[in-house]
Order: sequence, then C-alpha cells, then structure tokens
Amino acid sequence: MTLSLTEKSKLVSSFWKDRPSACPKHEIPMRTFFVERVYKPQVVMVCPKGEMFRFDQKPKQIEFSRPHVKTMALDAQPRPSSRPSGASSSLFQARRRSSAAMAPAPPSGKRDA
Ligand SMILES: [Zn+2]
Repeated sequence: MTLSLTEKSKLVSSFWKDRPSACPKHEIPMRTFFVERVYKPQVVMVCPKGEMFRFDQKPKQIEFSRPHVKTMALDAQPRPSSRPSGASSSLFQARRRSSAAMAPAPPSGKRDA
C-alpha cells in the first residue's frame, strides 16, 4: 500500500520518539527497527500482517537519533555534585542574578502601558 506524506512523517516521528508505530492499514503495532547503512540508512517497519515500510533517513536526521537525544536530556538535568564548577555553574548564577534584577519594582502608583 502507498502511504501519504503525512502518514509517513507520522510513522517516522513516532519511531524516533520511542512511540509504537501502528500500521496505517490494520491499525496494529508494527515491529520497527533502524537499518544503519552508510549511504542510505532506513527506518523499517514490519506489520504482523505482512506489509513492510521503509523510510530513507537523511544523515542529518541520524545525528539526533534516540541515544543522542537521551544523552542531551540527561546533561540538561541539574546535578547537585561531582560537576567541576565551570562555565555552566557560573552561567547558572548569572541567570539567578538577572532574575533577581527583574523582581517586582516598588509600587509607584502608575504602570507603563
Ligand atoms: Zn498492516
């Protein structure tokens, strides 16, 4: 069966988001996996009823594959210790300072429109 562009992009994005990809024809979850090939990596989905869908992935998209995204998310988590106080912690302090500067001004009776 032929998939519309919308169906294709939905399936591929659900794959990269770690969500189950349902077969557009049978509405049952498909087995999905990634085939890493140098020039033409593909996301492959196999429906238990027999269809197989292949989606070419551009190398640009591969850069943000699931393991990478997870690593970035973990790095974004604030970690209390064991991190050398470097650029990130001073950046954090700068951010706190600027938010203190934005504290509500004393009431003046008038508000700028
Ligand atoms: Zn199917």
